[in-house]
Amino acid sequence: MEILRIPVLTDNYIFLLHDIFSNTAAVVDPAEAEPVIKKLHELEAELVAIFNTHHHNDHVGGNKQLIQQYPQVTVYGGVEDKGRIPGQQVFLEEGSRINFANRTGEVFFIPGHTRAHIAYYFPSQSGETGELFCGDTLFAGGCGRLFEGTPIQMVDSLSKLSSLPDNTRVWCAHEYTLKNLQFAVTVDADNLDLQQRYDEVKAHRSRGEATVPSLLGVEKRTNPFLRYSQPALQLAVNSNDPVQTFARLRGMKDKF
Ligand code: ZN
Ligand code: FE
Repeated sequence: MEILRIPVLTDNYIFLLHDIFSNTAAVVDPAEAEPVIKKLHELEAELVAIFNTHHHNDHVGGNKQLIQQYPQVTVYGGVEDKGRIPGQQVFLEEGSRINFANRTGEVFFIPGHTRAHIAYYFPSQSGETGELFCGDTLFAGGCGRLFEGTPIQMVDSLSKLSSLPDNTRVWCAHEYTLKNLQFAVTVDADNLDLQQRYDEVKAHRSRGEATVPSLLGVEKRTNPFLRYSQPALQLAVNSNDPVQTFARLRGMKDKF
């Protein structure tokens, strides 16, 4: 399975999963249809699946047109999103399994950004890396805003994701990394791994390069929204409670 990144809208990424053996493809969160159709034509691949993480329009905006163009496509999403994802046919919950190419993916129910948000995780297998498609829940250097969920839900959701292996690639849906790290260094100033990452990301972005995917191990060391149990972060927000620390960090980031 090869994974292609298609930049769309202002800062969204659509991910196209390509099975080179059967020449079929799946897309994660198609914000728009045209760039996906163009890429499928280039590859001469057939679209068989749409994997949606949540119902926001910058994640499902291309569903309708893709279904028209590829009537055989199957549309997946979270069961709690029933009625909110155009064309949804498969209703997934925590522990559901999905198949694409020679890989079996696991579904995590990760509410917080929305009440129905899910992630798709393909564990590493026979020399291939582990892949996590986490939509707007975990970002490189940050996390999603709490539109429909509570801090405790988001902490539970993020801790599910951060329990995965360090070498998991994190495919988040937005290029927000630089802005996220600009905030991170204000609350975790003594973190040398974070400083180094911030410098690297500044250099990448100055050359117009993508910073997604990142590695989960790097997120665990540098992302303040996974580090709510660390004394340095708790000190920065004057709390000794992990969930309260998370909530205060999220509140600060909302106004940053
Ligand atoms: Zn969203
Ligand atoms: Fe989004």
